[in-house]
Amino acid sequence: MSIIKLLPDSVANQIAAGEVVQRPSSVVKELLENSVDSGAKTIRLVIKDAGKTLIHVIDDGIGMNKTDLKKCFFRHTTSKIRKSKDLYSLKTMGFRGEALSSIASVSHMSIISNKDNNNSLGYEIKLEGGQEKLFNEVVSTKGTSISVKNLFFNIPARRNFLKSDNVELKHIIDEFHRISLINHDINFIFINNNNELFNLSKSIFKERIIRVFGNSSKQKLIPINEETEIAKIKGFVFKPEYSRKTRSAQFFFVNKRFIKNSHLNHAVKTAYEGLIQDNLYPSYFLKINVPLNSIDVNIHPNKTEIKFDNDQSIYAILKSSIKHSLGQFNIAPTIDFDNNINLNTPYSYRNKEASIPKVDYNEAFNPFNNLTKPVDLKTKDFEISNVDDLVRTDQFKNELEILKTNIFPSFQLNSKYIITKTSTGILIINQKRAHQRILYENFLKELSNKINPIQTLLFPIKLDFNVEEIRMLKLLEAPLVHLGFKFNAFGPDNIEISGTHPFLNQNNVNGLFQDFLRNKDYNRDNTVHTLNDLIAKLLSKYSSISSNENINVKLQESLVNDLFACKDPNVSPFGKLIFKLISLEEIIKIF
Ligand code: ADP
Ligand code: MG
Repeated sequence: MSIIKLLPDSVANQIAAGEVVQRPSSVVKELLENSVDSGAKTIRLVIKDAGKTLIHVIDDGIGMNKTDLKKCFFRHTTSKIRKSKDLYSLKTMGFRGEALSSIASVSHMSIISNKDNNNSLGYEIKLEGGQEKLFNEVVSTKGTSISVKNLFFNIPARRNFLKSDNVELKHIIDEFHRISLINHDINFIFINNNNELFNLSKSIFKERIIRVFGNSSKQKLIPINEETEIAKIKGFVFKPEYSRKTRSAQFFFVNKRFIKNSHLNHAVKTAYEGLIQDNLYPSYFLKINVPLNSIDVNIHPNKTEIKFDNDQSIYAILKSSIKHSLGQFNIAPTIDFDNNINLNTPYSYRNKEASIPKVDYNEAFNPFNNLTKPVDLKTKDFEISNVDDLVRTDQFKNELEILKTNIFPSFQLNSKYIITKTSTGILIINQKRAHQRILYENFLKELSNKINPIQTLLFPIKLDFNVEEIRMLKLLEAPLVHLGFKFNAFGPDNIEISGTHPFLNQNNVNGLFQDFLRNKDYNRDNTVHTLNDLIAKLLSKYSSISSNENINVKLQESLVNDLFACKDPNVSPFGKLIFKLISLEEIIKIF
């Protein structure tokens, strides 16, 4: 006698439910995803007692006709996939056709659906433990309304296993965040025990984040934007100082689907390295779009895990784009700049006899002569290119205030600061940092120019390195050549330089190259972004005026002008404050 039997459907469904439905939040996730897939414009989520008593999702999407309603709660019924090939080009959230059958098998479920816009009659089906109990014609608007009551009524062990309402509600809110954030073009309403927790109207991504995480998040956001062939990354990260003790604000959305990925999370973490304490987590909201056929979403029943074909590349792109944005918004001293090169003799020089420097230093060299023409503050158009971008707009407000007013005659304090007044107070500018910012933006611009000026050296400079050092510096050769550097020799154990960028003080050539070696990061992450950013930063460091240099009034003025023509005049390329405006009110308060 054969002892192998096919499991009855009800048992099979309960087993499947164990995978799909772990707690009320799993039901919320599946129902919300179905509503998103239905093309709804508005989705309402109503729950009672953290979903233990009731989970009700109402949408105005495509709806189901009579036949579909009769079928939708059977196992492996789905309208979203027809052939196995479809699995590789999935655009929808669902595709396994397991959710409704699993949920139905462990609850009292009622589905009302109407597919016809012009007809106020739809159908209702009621199920208990997956068994059809009632099928009716009912009055309803277009869309679908699914209510799930008494979850796990037939599996007491599971019901007892549920945590307190607070904990279960927290899980539901997490799911709600994940779905409502990425589907910001849909209105969402979320009501718990008659309390409206969220009422989110259709908006852009940034606004949705602010609505979900509160108004205060507005000033915390830094935009991320990167487009490569492999992936498009768009979204926001929080400034490092707003990092959290929990991972509750970490979101990757791959092709509009929330995913968890420890590898990518690691990429973000390393981008923040040195900027946040080890026990804190960076917050991020990142949309990653990759070609549909380059991922496998089918590796986990909950579909929050995902495999990329180009894992390593996406890691590198993600890390460098975040680093770049943190740098651009100048919160990130990625490099240790306090390391004074004059005190650290590079080891390759340690055993050498002191010799007279062969470098010709042009004392008349004026670092400002070649700067971009001073801007006419009254006529310069300070329009912000991306009005949509609230963060930048905010940042620019201060500067605009200042710039709208005239810049008055200035003077130098302690050969270090430039002091001037504006119509609203006194402006104190750190001259060295200001100059670094001007140069940094200038170098970045030149890195994308076609041709750049070259300064030929009277005597070539020869620097000794070991093979490994040469290998690293080689990565920088092309962009440096682009910036006017001329190399007579590059390796195997020395470099001979016969031309540099005109702004670079030639006494600093060695310091610059030693600093390149100290910042080994680009060895691992040698994307164009990272290389250009590093070169522009270090060149600005070694080309700028010092914080102990007398500059005449004319130069002071052009420094101030050029600073406020910069994209980000607030902080130096190394994240240090450039100027401080002491307002009239503050001065009045003193007296
Ligand atoms: P899947 O989402 O994987 O297809 P489900 O069990 O979640 O499987 O749903 C089964 C089918 O029921 C869906 O493919 C869809 O055709 C239909 N369906 C479920 N929810 C809705 C809804 N809110 N609006 C319209 N159709 C729905
Ligand atoms: Mg589904």
